[in-house]
Amino acid sequence: MTLLRIPDPSLIALVGPAGAGKSTLAARLFSRDEILSSDELRAVIAGNPRDQRATAAAFAALHRALARRLAARRLTVVDATSIERHARQALVHRARTAGLPAVAIVLDLPPSVVLARNAARAARQVDPLVVRRHLAALRSALDGGALAGEGWDLVAWIREAAEVEALRVERRPG
Ligand code: ATP
Ligand code: MG
Repeated sequence: MTLLRIPDPSLIALVGPAGAGKSTLAARLFSRDEILSSDELRAVIAGNPRDQRATAAAFAALHRALARRLAARRLTVVDATSIERHARQALVHRARTAGLPAVAIVLDLPPSVVLARNAARAARQVDPLVVRRHLAALRSALDGGALAGEGWDLVAWIREAAEVEALRVERRPG
């Protein structure tokens, strides 16, 4: 078992390619109302969680809800890929503005695992080319040490599927 001690309240960002298992992990570790999901907001706005035309509106809504929740000192999990540096920086900025810690849980799983999980999805499969692009972008961000310089208070860097299964969180007053 790997115990991740998470300050509560805080902002928790899941970082990982489509198909890595972010939503599955979030559902296991956190309660439903603590999770802001870009897919769910796209579904609310456009009727389809994969409708990329709703992306800007979905992230605007996500950030509005996030800012409010953090201002109210509620632990909040952001379930989006957060593969791009600007997306992660916007999240760190929200946490800083609220004076709360920012935690990243990075799902850096082997590409074969991620691609197989995505391919096995009954619905909402993502184009494997997109998954490969996410994998490459995450690899270069991690190998370049990008996350280290972004201001995260805690980074849980998960590299194996078994580590995901073994992960537990313990909340400690922040
Ligand atoms: P997206 O970015 O597209 O929303 P995601 O990172 O949220 O993807 P999930 O939807 O959680 O990924 O999982 C992708 C697929 O992998 C699902 O079919 C899920 O059932 C499976 N999966 C997720 N986690 C695990 C796991 N720990 N063991 C086995 N299969 C898993
Ligand atoms: Mg998901």
